[in-house]
Amino acid sequence: MSRDSGFLSRLFSTLLGGSAKQDVTQKGQELLASYQRELSDGNGDPESQLTRVLDQLRAYWELESLRWAAGTSSSGIPVRFSGEELGSITWHPEDSKLEESRRSLLVILAGLAAPYLAKVAESQADPLQRWQSERADMVTGLLNRPAFMGLLLNELAKPSGSAGLTSVLVTVHIQDYTKLYTDLGGNGYDERIRDFSRLLRADFGLHSTAGRLEEDMFAVLICDLSNPDKAASMSAAFRNKVEATLELDVTAGIAPRVDLYSDPQIWLNDARTAVKQAEERGGQQAFFSQTMQMHSVARWQMETDLENALEAGQIETWFQPIVHLPGGEIAGYEALCRWTHPEKGGIRPDEFIPVAENDGSLILEIGQLTLREACETLARISERNGTAPFMSVNLSPVQLKDSQLPKKILAVVELAGVNPEHLKLEITETAVMHEREKAIQALERIRETGAQLSMDDFGTGYSSLAYLREFPISTLKIDRAFVSGSDLDEEAKEILRTIVEMAHSLDLKIVAEGVETEGERDLLAELGCEYGQGWLFAKPMPAEEV
Ligand code: C2E
Ligand code: CA
Ligand code: CA
Repeated sequence: MSRDSGFLSRLFSTLLGGSAKQDVTQKGQELLASYQRELSDGNGDPESQLTRVLDQLRAYWELESLRWAAGTSSSGIPVRFSGEELGSITWHPEDSKLEESRRSLLVILAGLAAPYLAKVAESQADPLQRWQSERADMVTGLLNRPAFMGLLLNELAKPSGSAGLTSVLVTVHIQDYTKLYTDLGGNGYDERIRDFSRLLRADFGLHSTAGRLEEDMFAVLICDLSNPDKAASMSAAFRNKVEATLELDVTAGIAPRVDLYSDPQIWLNDARTAVKQAEERGGQQAFFSQTMQMHSVARWQMETDLENALEAGQIETWFQPIVHLPGGEIAGYEALCRWTHPEKGGIRPDEFIPVAENDGSLILEIGQLTLREACETLARISERNGTAPFMSVNLSPVQLKDSQLPKKILAVVELAGVNPEHLKLEITETAVMHEREKAIQALERIRETGAQLSMDDFGTGYSSLAYLREFPISTLKIDRAFVSGSDLDEEAKEILRTIVEMAHSLDLKIVAEGVETEGERDLLAELGCEYGQGWLFAKPMPAEEV
């Protein structure tokens, strides 16, 4: 309305101002102007303001009454907006004829009040409906973007992880939306999107709320989940259903709530990054991980560097001993890759492995290199000592998806002349939890080569011990987070004890990672952990030093 103020002031001065010289008092002008100012500023309630102005004018004009009456009426000056009569300004005695000048002032007042009163009328008609219409996407009835952001903000205001429950944001992107739109036409498209929205609303459970963020981007907030992995399986089931029944291809990005989030926009960005990542990889859904945030240019630079590094032989494999806990003798090794950059020096695998994984073919090459060097070293130690230690090698989730992996393992093992049973391939929970059935099949095929499997970083992912029995693994590696300081803390001790007991009940051997102190070692031995790995025993070392 503020754009009107210039126009109205001009109107006032023409109609009521000096040259008109009609019997409209300065007072009337002033009242009208201040009423208009208040309305433009959005202050107060337009209806009571109007009543107040009328009261003041009445007193000034010495009328018995001058008032605003809502609804249709036959007398007075009608207040109309968009052709609809909202009410009228009436006076008493009714038959008293208002002077033309006063009348025109009231007509202006009526015109001025109309849009504001229309708003009030709308809001009073059905507040619930109005509230909903402000928050809903018009086509689907799902929450619109501002409303959904408000929902996320509320969620973040709650304390996180209360009662062990968490919330997960899933964004869902409809692929090829433009093609769909042209194929189906506007109405057909809307119809399809409504069907899609119904599923979106229904399929993520009672504790979920769905929203539409953009034409082709939707989101679901799932609350009170005991395990974020559930969001992944719900989302996978939803995608399948949508594909089968609506012939829509969708990609999902999954971002579990983390303490770091204070701004809902960041949470949303993370979920969207996961969607993008999944699409770049040709996949259908992905979890958000911190490494995704890496700027794509920096990532690209590192990818190029990595390619060169592989060619230049800057990437090599180091080995860290794994000791038998009761006696302290070396039982095996873990192969860990190292990159020595000519300018930047040593680059940690935590930095470059995710980049290599993002590329896909790079991680396959690195994995193959590590596997080969690990087997060569295994062969050499076995020959020297007369007995063979076990050799642990990390497997990336990307390698796990490679159907050629079992063949590659057999080829490397044969070339080095080692027994595949001495190989322990380390997988992580996150690699196998998302598409469990598929992962289990892949693991079974690896087992057929004779190599053993080990679950790495146990406790840091989202899985539970209950799932472990489904996987053909023989060893569990307890993450450093559970080991460090465990001898000094009763609760940590109890957690360790529980993990050890349950792992043993599943016939798994245990490797405790990151053992740095004698206290930790003694506790682990006392609890019955078979193996330990950590700086207390030895740091990773180049192959020549093993
Ligand atoms: P990881 O598999 O959990 O490897 C154990 C990490 O803990 C290694 O870090 C090791 O150096 C470190 N570590 C060992 N003992 C101690 C200790 O007592 N205290 C502390 N603070 N740390 C200890 P590293 O070598 O930096 O490797 C980091 C991660 O990179 C590995 O974690 C693994 O996930 C990945 N990685 C390393 N090599 C490969 C590889 O060849 N292929 C794949 N796919 N991933 C690899
Ligand atoms: Ca490992
Ligand atoms: Ca580990």
